[in-house]
Amino acid sequence: MMNNRNKNDEYIVIVGCGRLGSHLARLLSKARKSVVVIDKNEGAFHRLGDDFSGFTIEADAIEIDSLLQAKINKADVVVTTTNDDNTNILIAQIAKIIYKVPKVIARLFEPSRQQVYEELGIETLCPTILSAIELKNIIVGDKMEV
Ligand code: AMP
Repeated sequence: MMNNRNKNDEYIVIVGCGRLGSHLARLLSKARKSVVVIDKNEGAFHRLGDDFSGFTIEADAIEIDSLLQAKINKADVVVTTTNDDNTNILIAQIAKIIYKVPKVIARLFEPSRQQVYEELGIETLCPTILSAIELKNIIVGDKMEV
């Protein structure tokens, strides 16, 4: 479902409130975005800190009910950041295909699977590849080798 919300009013659902999801949620909260974070482990929400202005839902995000509780059908952006590639891709596909969320990004640990998911229209973010590129730039600079 495309909507006419402008960038400032974007509604963002983050799945997983671990090391990556909580950090992202805090950054977006500081940027005054509307954020909802889902995690199956209540203790994970402590990572958000006291100044987090968004909402939290303690639930297994694989359950459609928890996604509906997070109003995934109204989301402009869904980011899946659990520690399981299959969970992230499944929820990303649900968001994209069933709920037509305009922007969906999945955390992906396994670099070799990235191309397949990109071909399915799921944007992925692979910390392993990003870290390797950044480390290479730190070590030898960002010029292409000949
Ligand atoms: P981290 O690897 O530190 O980024 O943590 C990943 C987070 O994802 C943890 O807080 C897990 O509790 C959470 N998580 C894993 N699977 C699910 C799931 N199916 N639904 C909701 N949260 C999950």
